[in-house]
Amino acid sequence: MQNLIKELISQNYLKTPKIIEAFLKIKREDFTPEDFKKDAHLNIPLPIGHNQTISQPLTVAFMLELLQPKEGEKILDIGSGSGWTAVLLAYITGKKGRVCAVERIPELKEMGEKNASKYNFIKNGRIKFFCLDGSKGLPDEAPFDKIHVAAAAAQIPTALKDQLKIGGRLIMPVGDSSQELILLEKIGENQYKEKHYPGFVFVPLIKENK
Ligand code: SAH
Repeated sequence: MQNLIKELISQNYLKTPKIIEAFLKIKREDFTPEDFKKDAHLNIPLPIGHNQTISQPLTVAFMLELLQPKEGEKILDIGSGSGWTAVLLAYITGKKGRVCAVERIPELKEMGEKNASKYNFIKNGRIKFFCLDGSKGLPDEAPFDKIHVAAAAAQIPTALKDQLKIGGRLIMPVGDSSQELILLEKIGENQYKEKHYPGFVFVPLIKENK
């Protein structure tokens, strides 16, 4: 993993000291199934069961750098899967931060919770896991400073925009076959600024009625 992190820094994907520190402290092998631990240092997505993957490190680095999570923030992590991104976010937001992790597949919600407990983040309440359809967001816990979405939809769900604080940021893959990452900044009630970053591939965000 050390070499991979060096590579991501030299390629300018990882830039922010706190995000780099999180990549160094939170071990990706703690989030991959037994059979793939030996591959955790590779810059590729890896299977976590149920046709899902733990994201590629380059993509996670790129998304977190755009999201700019900060100490003390409340963050929504949709499609928590292995729990890796939720734990990275909890590390970055620190003791006063809160991460709400949402996953639709019950077995993966449990896997994420188990992996996060290796870092004590469940017991001390820094991450809460929910088994729900994340396309509706998490109204009971809203508003959020930041929203990170790890599965692609045709467009950004309105519920997620509504649950973002003014001044907050959301990062999410959008599109069907050819996807791009969209960074959304909420600059006023119903006012948003968007930036598009093409060339990424994600699993689909599956709505409950499909
Ligand atoms: N952040 C994860 C990435 C997992 S891949 C990690 O680091 O491991 C994306 C995840 O999104 C999958 O686990 C998938 O089951 C989940 N997902 C897809 N549609 C969803 C929805 N509507 N609500 C919540 N999770 C969803």
